[in-house]
Amino acid sequence: MDDCIFCQIVAGDIPSRTVYEDDDVLAFLDANPLAPGHTLVIPKDHHESLNDLPADLGSAVFAAMHELTPEVEAAVDAPASTVAFNNGEEAGQEVPHVHAHIVPRFADDGGRPIHALVS
Ligand code: ADP
Repeated sequence: MDDCIFCQIVAGDIPSRTVYEDDDVLAFLDANPLAPGHTLVIPKDHHESLNDLPADLGSAVFAAMHELTPEVEAAVDAPASTVAFNNGEEAGQEVPHVHAHIVPRFADDGGRPIHALVS
């Protein structure tokens, strides 16, 4: 999709700080991080939401999340993380290209609920 920010990142037309890439998946640092190390994991193909995502691509995204989450936590010395999808506009999804947030969490960050953290 020409007007999709994340498709433009996949194409290399918008710069990003890549932390992981394979044939199907790209992960990069969030431009407006909610915590140090805040990472986004996306399928390279354009799908608006989880509801549109083919299961095999969902598996590829999950495999990347599974590998990356402990690495992201370790990179910023976080003991935990919130891993979440805002799935649809009313749920706070602003970029209509499915993406998972990996947000490192710290003992002193207030324990905010997921909706307050990523919406
Ligand atoms: P929200 O902004 O409510 O978290 P989303 O769940 O759709 O909505 O998240 C989109 C995320 O994409 C935001 O965290 C935002 O900071 C990030 N973002 C937007 N543009 C870029 C970009 N060019 N590079 C990296 N991250 C981006």
